Amino acid sequence: MSGRVGTPVDVLAFGAHPDDLEFGMGGTLVRMVREGLAVTEVVLTRGEAGTYGDPDIRVREQTRAAEIIGCGLRFMDFRDGEVEATREGVVKIVEVIRELRPRICFAPVERSPYTHRDRAAHPDHLATGKLVKRACRLAKFRKFITRDAEPHLVGSMFFYMVPKGVLPTFVVDFSDYYDDWIRAISAHESQITNLRGGDLRSYLEAYKILYGSFIDRKYADGFYSPEPLEIAPSALFGGSR
Ligand SMILES: [Zn+2]
Repeated sequence: MSGRVGTPVDVLAFGAHPDDLEFGMGGTLVRMVREGLAVTEVVLTRGEAGTYGDPDIRVREQTRAAEIIGCGLRFMDFRDGEVEATREGVVKIVEVIRELRPRICFAPVERSPYTHRDRAAHPDHLATGKLVKRACRLAKFRKFITRDAEPHLVGSMFFYMVPKGVLPTFVVDFSDYYDDWIRAISAHESQITNLRGGDLRSYLEAYKILYGSFIDRKYADGFYSPEPLEIAPSALFGGSR
């Protein structure tokens, strides 16, 4: 064995822009960290093409959000508005996966039937989903060369930002962590106070309430799994809560 190996994490959660992770699955990230999992956020851009804020503000806000969640944070050097599923991009993501060695990965959904009216359908989000899916597949192949890191097998990958009108494969209850989620999304002040006429919080909450209603809980995040999930019999009785 040779090559660079960092401290392994349980969960690597990818976002295209600062705010994607908090808005899309922040409550779940809080719950994971509070339950003892090692979580790192990887944000591909600094949100430099966003209408509100600037890269310095966006990086500061994302850093604050990660502090509130209690997770690690890594920025990459993709360009906002120009994220594409290229070979170079896949190699860069594989390098991060091989360094941080996650058990599971999350990324924005890679396909959406909708266009500009669905947050999930931003081209950078879809490209990030494609990049991470490909990288998770390739990271284990020793002969897929990227610098000097050891190959790594990612156990599973899941998508967040499930498109409107699509039922999630599974939901994660975060009702007990609602206050921390609100703090985490509020850290993205330049976005939360401007987007959707300053009413983005209500919009996000509506989704969380909808997903929570599927399991008779107040707030949940929705996820899509491209593959069937293995369920322990005990979980069929609601034991996973
Ligand atoms: Zn985004």
